[in-house]
Amino acid sequence: MTRPDWAPYGVDLDRPNAARVYDYYLGGAHNFAVDREMAAQAMAAWPELPQIMRANRAFLRRAVRFLVRSGVRQFLDLGSGIPTVGNVHEVARAQDPSCRVVYVDIDPVAVAQSRAILDGDPLVRAVQADLRSPARVLDLAVTEGGLDLAQPVAVLLVAVLHFVADGDDPAGVIGGYREATAPGSAIAVCHATADGQGDKADEHRAFYARTPTPMTMRSRAEVGKLLEGYELVEPGLVYMALWRPEDDELPDRPEDYPGYAAVGFHPV
Ligand code: SAM
Repeated sequence: MTRPDWAPYGVDLDRPNAARVYDYYLGGAHNFAVDREMAAQAMAAWPELPQIMRANRAFLRRAVRFLVRSGVRQFLDLGSGIPTVGNVHEVARAQDPSCRVVYVDIDPVAVAQSRAILDGDPLVRAVQADLRSPARVLDLAVTEGGLDLAQPVAVLLVAVLHFVADGDDPAGVIGGYREATAPGSAIAVCHATADGQGDKADEHRAFYARTPTPMTMRSRAEVGKLLEGYELVEPGLVYMALWRPEDDELPDRPEDYPGYAAVGFHPV
């Protein structure tokens, strides 16, 4: 396949990638044939995948609005993805234009597209980094993104912790961010689960095993354990569609959207 002009040099055009497959599910244009092929195969087994991704995105928007209303003005969006409708800086700034956002993604296409839409905005930065190295990410967030770690920061881990394997110590990674951020800081998480999904979840994991970021789905108890150290706000850790749904957002069967979502704060 020929490299499209929006794809940075060096991107592997022959291997599917979580950022671009997700972009395809959401109706975006920054994906390759190999990504669309993987998405088509995954959707043949699980046709609801695009709705699930949209529900995840809707949770992200609700969580960001809630966090701004709760007084947070700085956001560290880890595994931010390829920009799409309702990016974190747009949602946060619709509430308060002084909000600062640092986007972090391991994928060069996601970072290049984020930079392209930001166009010199002084309060928003996109950096390419691996979230599994909190010290490095936080250093970049401060030096390049201007985050002030003495003030509360919301760490967003939405649809990305399931790309951190147990062997990479997800609890330790989250702890690295928690310990470096001020009391009053927050976390927002949405995490894929296989609970109640049977064979569909196994097939889904097999698709992501082809990408550079294989998936580890976790049970509700396992996700809850990762959030120890945070005080979760109501309704706690729930299926994503059940986290403070807004008008006509609540589906008939929230369990058909198999990811657990929560927002929590460091105790002050
Ligand atoms: N957070 C966005 C959302 O919920 O709409 C995008 C989620 S997308 C499914 C997952 C993103 O996480 C991808 O863009 C992928 O490149 C990124 N990612 C996966 N592993 C990562 C890592 N170790 N460090 C940083 N980004 C990572």
